Amino acid sequence: MYTDLHLHTHFSDGTYTPEFLTAEAKRFGLVAIALTDHDTIEGCDRMQVACDSVGIEFIAATELTAEFNGTEMHLLGYFIDTKHPRLLEEMGRFQEVRQNRIREMVARLRGLNVPITEEAVFALANCNSPGRPHIARALIDAKVCRSVDEAFERFLKKNRPAWVPKFKISATDAIALIHEAGGLAVLAHPLLIRRDELIPDLVEAKLDGLECYHTRHTPSISEHYEMLAEHFNLLVTGGSDCHGMNKGKPLIGSIKLPYENVRRMKARLRDNHPSRLLPEPSGTY
Ligand code: AMP
Ligand code: ZN
Ligand code: FE
Ligand code: FE
Repeated sequence: MYTDLHLHTHFSDGTYTPEFLTAEAKRFGLVAIALTDHDTIEGCDRMQVACDSVGIEFIAATELTAEFNGTEMHLLGYFIDTKHPRLLEEMGRFQEVRQNRIREMVARLRGLNVPITEEAVFALANCNSPGRPHIARALIDAKVCRSVDEAFERFLKKNRPAWVPKFKISATDAIALIHEAGGLAVLAHPLLIRRDELIPDLVEAKLDGLECYHTRHTPSISEHYEMLAEHFNLLVTGGSDCHGMNKGKPLIGSIKLPYENVRRMKARLRDNHPSRLLPEPSGTY
């Protein structure tokens, strides 16, 4: 019994619909999946319906963009209440920040005589939580770049000519917000941050878990984070970070996290909120 707890749809920068992503999860035999779109939960209702129809357990989640001491980090919030008013209000603000940043980055590109428009980027993104990958795709459509990687290298990466810094919630506030919405806060892909020395402070801020398994983690890296998780009494999670075709190839199926880890997540939630109703495994397993 395996799960994938890190997936994106077109409600942020993935290319799959919730329905197609769920069908792919079924094809790979996954018994539980979480949707972790950046700074939004808009895909969760549809994904829940799709999962119910094929007997997959669905975990509502999001991936919040945050920062700690100037370092960007992504915090996954699992089992969140997708109707929580303050969570929705805060995410609305993050989406506005994202949209304004797209406008600023397109203006910089136009200043460099790159012929793209914000309308083209927004039309292509077709979501409330647009990001740099959408600008990259617009640059490919405009035949300015040949690949997403090239777009990031030439224009979009930190300190490249079209890069604009983005306001981010602090990691401590993000963890508190996830908890307020009834969820568990997990540090996403710690290897991509490479700041293990920050983990004790995040634990102090009540971080619940570490994403030990991720497409970009080698087996020895996963083992390293498993050891850190054990040391700090953190939950172990994992996921493919599938963005559909946005990252060249679909990654769903590449990470198979044992279902036992989901059981442990629920046990921790029950400890925190004894009366909490949690999704049950569906189907016959
Ligand atoms: P944004 O949310 O607008 O800052 O965009 C961040 C997203 O861009 C991340 O989720 C990554 O998937 C993607 N990304 C970041 N850096 C690169 C890169 N160098 N090449 C390709 N994709 C990247
Ligand atoms: Zn993404
Ligand atoms: Fe991420
Ligand atoms: Fe992600």
